[in-house]
Amino acid sequence: MESYNHTNNKNGRNSQNKKILLSKQRQELPIYSARENIIQSIYKNDTTIVVGETGSGKTTQIPQYLLEAGFVKEFGTSIAVTQPRRVAATSIAKRVADEVGTRLGDKVGYGIRFDNCFSKYTKIKYLTDGMLLREVLTDPLLLKYKVVVLDEAHERTLRTDILFGMLKTIQKKREEMVKANAKKKKNSSKAHNSQENGNSNNFNSMPKKHIMFDQDNENQNDISLKNTKPKNHNPDSTDNDKKKDDTPFVSKLKIIIMSATLDAEKFLQYFNNAPVLYISGRQFPVKTFYTYEPQSDYLDSAHTTVIQLHLETNPNSGDILVFLSGQEDIENLEKLLKESNLHLPQYNKICTAPIYAALPQKLQNKVFESAPPHTRKIVLATNIAETSITIPGIKYVIDTGVHKSRGYDPRIGVESLLVEPISKSSARQRSGRAGRIDHGYCYRLYTEDDYEKLEENEVPEIKRRQLTSVILTLKAAGIDDILRFDYMDAPSKPAIKSALLELYALEALDESGNLSKLGSWMAEFPLDPVYSKVLYESVKHKCTSEALDLVAAHSVESIFFSPVDKRHLAAEAHKQFQSIDGDHWTVINLIKAFNEYKLNGTKVVIFDQDSADETPENIESEGIYEEVEYNKEDGNKLEAWCRKNFINFKNLNHVFKVRKQIENLCIKMGIDTTTSCGNDTEQVLICLLSGFFYKCAMLQPDGTYRSLTGSQTVHIHPSSTMFRKRASSIVYDQLVFTNKLYAKGVSSIQPAWISIASPRLYGNSNF
Ligand code: ADP
Ligand code: MG
Repeated sequence: MESYNHTNNKNGRNSQNKKILLSKQRQELPIYSARENIIQSIYKNDTTIVVGETGSGKTTQIPQYLLEAGFVKEFGTSIAVTQPRRVAATSIAKRVADEVGTRLGDKVGYGIRFDNCFSKYTKIKYLTDGMLLREVLTDPLLLKYKVVVLDEAHERTLRTDILFGMLKTIQKKREEMVKANAKKKKNSSKAHNSQENGNSNNFNSMPKKHIMFDQDNENQNDISLKNTKPKNHNPDSTDNDKKKDDTPFVSKLKIIIMSATLDAEKFLQYFNNAPVLYISGRQFPVKTFYTYEPQSDYLDSAHTTVIQLHLETNPNSGDILVFLSGQEDIENLEKLLKESNLHLPQYNKICTAPIYAALPQKLQNKVFESAPPHTRKIVLATNIAETSITIPGIKYVIDTGVHKSRGYDPRIGVESLLVEPISKSSARQRSGRAGRIDHGYCYRLYTEDDYEKLEENEVPEIKRRQLTSVILTLKAAGIDDILRFDYMDAPSKPAIKSALLELYALEALDESGNLSKLGSWMAEFPLDPVYSKVLYESVKHKCTSEALDLVAAHSVESIFFSPVDKRHLAAEAHKQFQSIDGDHWTVINLIKAFNEYKLNGTKVVIFDQDSADETPENIESEGIYEEVEYNKEDGNKLEAWCRKNFINFKNLNHVFKVRKQIENLCIKMGIDTTTSCGNDTEQVLICLLSGFFYKCAMLQPDGTYRSLTGSQTVHIHPSSTMFRKRASSIVYDQLVFTNKLYAKGVSSIQPAWISIASPRLYGNSNF
């Protein structure tokens, strides 16, 4: 983690220079001239909508303006800024920490699932929308935040959509509390009359230009900070004093909705006519090209276009940004480009810089750094680079026209993650990235006809995703009437019904649809409810260690590595881990084998930065910075072991990191995480079924399977150890559509286990 070192003169000077440079860059941003207007508008209005060209400075600057203007002066108050993607939250937090001149985790921090980096002194916190939603469970009025910014609102992610409705309610409740407090105060002391004139609703008292203020309540003496030491520590304090200290700190909640493009009319109607501020950007014209013919292989076309562009244009004219669908595409194209680079002349090389959701934080910086001399940077990105983060220096954009999109069919209970065409609005954003420094060029790897056929905007996620997890969160947040929640766009009734039924079958809800004790327990975990159910049941089956392995392993696509050109060798290497019970035990066997090697083959240190010298004292200890790391020698040995066995070392480490986080949560919830069933495969599979009973299928005479819910014909995916085996019934992790419906992550089970694992679904004919 980068930090400023003030003890060394040279470093001190460097840090000073860096600060001056960053400050200059801040002032050059298009948003800078609108600074006062923005602050005024946010001060005056409970909700403000800000629309501005990508790169104009919304995400990095507005929170800093509010900080500088004194919106979060009191100890313990802060500004939350949500992002739909983890990478955006971490990389923007890092940038803003640099601009503010603070260490990441101090004044500026971030919070993403399984990785928190903030402290009680944090004033600006970038977090995923999912994390803020979870915070509502422990802090139902989000009292520590005086301002919540919902960024990238146009993306209409499921969790941002839910936050729209929740924040409206929270804002209203907090306003009522502020009013009630003010009234109480008025009654209790007439002497305070003069101070009340200074409360937030009296805008006339606002100075016209220079603004240094607190938005409300600053003068209300009866409000003290929650979770901070009361000012009066005198043990003889009176009851009255105690009452004072018990009054929760309440201020009005400011909501800011931000986006690059959005249907302003729809948003302002939903947010009670909130004002819309338009920030003009700095955008140069971009010339767009289409292919003459549809392209059958967009990766191959992207590869050709990059090399062609690189050779035919001046290498100093600007960098190239390629939009792809996901990590796999990016890794494949990266490989092709690296091979081509070998044949490029020494004075005209390329270097690749990938950016996608699962990219570890340490590797993210490459996209923001300049390429070495005589080398052009080729950024390979997912739609993260459309509007969430701005990569400097791009002049050429190559748009493959695809992204990965999640879908769900409630009738058959199948969730999908498919590579699909983007919307026109995304295509426009993508081409816009070429016009940031000067005139730009966008190469669309599809025909103009195909562009015309694209949808104008993407359907909001709430209308196409499985709702089980958010409905559990809503229930846990005390919102019982799911149908009448204040949605911007309501989800379909079948989708709600299917989620409620699944939660009932998981025993998270009771017969009346109310949250059960188990449901509240499950909601404590930042996991899909099926996984928290498995963890819960693992106590009974005494296999929490194996359950943790399985749940954590789901956080990555695969821990096995099967490169196309060495598939055969990889399959041979993987045989040693294979279990006759199927893929789940194969994963457990691998993890056990790795751990064994780690114990006997190397001396591995679990590196905990919390105890490292450079760690700021004020970082909360809750798993922050905690990562499994190895010293160089051990790391090399373990990596070599993985390479030899065709294991994805990076993904496996991620699994261990996630496992540690979930394990910590389990310990907090009183679970003994060390229980292990040894080689009793049955216990683990029955335990798995307690969450996965929706994902079972029975063998048909023709060798295919039929899913128990939805009655779909399902085939076992060739990547599964169960491929071509004829188990009478199976459980699977997921169904994917390609040319057929395939089950991935498959294990063999006994049909009788299914009803044991899910009495509500299969043991009750009324269900
Ligand atoms: P917006 O939210 O309006 O799209 P941002 O606040 O994200 O804009 O970015 C403002 C500017 O800050 C960008 O134009 C870019 O030049 C710069 N910037 C942001 N993040 C980084 C970074 N990590 N490294 C270098 N420059 C950055
Ligand atoms: Mg932004």
